[in-house]
Amino acid sequence: MAKPVTSASLHRQLAPAAARLLAAVRIVLIAPSHPGNIGATARAMTTMGLADLVVVSPRFADFARHDEARAFAGHGIDRLESARSAGTLSEAVGDCQLVIGVSAEPREFGPAPRTPGRTVREAFDLVAQGQALRVAFVFGTERTGLSIDEVGLCQRLTTIPAEPDRSSLNLAQAVQIMAYALREAALERDEGPQDSHPVAVVRRADHAAIEGFYAHLERAMIACEFLDPATPKRLMPRMRRLFGRAGLDVEEVDLLRGLCTRIERSAGGGR
Ligand code: SAH
Repeated sequence: MAKPVTSASLHRQLAPAAARLLAAVRIVLIAPSHPGNIGATARAMTTMGLADLVVVSPRFADFARHDEARAFAGHGIDRLESARSAGTLSEAVGDCQLVIGVSAEPREFGPAPRTPGRTVREAFDLVAQGQALRVAFVFGTERTGLSIDEVGLCQRLTTIPAEPDRSSLNLAQAVQIMAYALREAALERDEGPQDSHPVAVVRRADHAAIEGFYAHLERAMIACEFLDPATPKRLMPRMRRLFGRAGLDVEEVDLLRGLCTRIERSAGGGR
């Protein structure tokens, strides 16, 4: 059978600016129990032009050699073999300026869920403007999904709209849909007017810096007795949601840490 005419084909190499958007995306799977889902994720990513896959606490350390993973990877075998593993979610996303949880259900004190399209557009705006270098999409385990604490590490939450009482997709299928939303958004930008880079941008703080701030904020709130560690009353999750929505940049984190230091000093007797 004849191949489709190339110029009319929707399968095409993206121009560098659009390819850079996809290159900024990291897919993170938390402790998947089926190696087949890692393989199928590698395939989904390959077809959509995504490269960066990290598996947190994989059940099999050498998942790339697992028969089931290899069988499901198909032509995504390179992606499977280049996948990295991490001990914790924080380690997996430490250098990301935007961390997005992908979940069928919202979680208590988590960010309000948005559709994949809206989420991807916001993420790509930040990347195109130079405010974010790396953006993570975090997927939960097959059985229980993302925990409340894991969602607490995310600044955004996205949900693939589905039937209310049957909303849970297979893990790798959820990855495929998100990966397609990313491809489609990149393709649209490829065809539309090119983004112009602003002169000076302050980059958003990465996950590691944000977590450093939250730890400092917690110490400061304990020091001035605003937070009682014996009855924390979900204060930190609320703070996380508030600052997660704000999208702190590097200078704002420095400012807030300076404030925390002063609070600690005043509480400790004005040293
Ligand atoms: N029972 C679990 C389902 C886990 S499915 C739960 O309630 O969350 C495994 C993973 O696939 C989820 O953690 C999520 O990352 C993804 N997923 C499945 N269905 C989804 C949907 N409708 N929207 C967004 N992500 C979904």
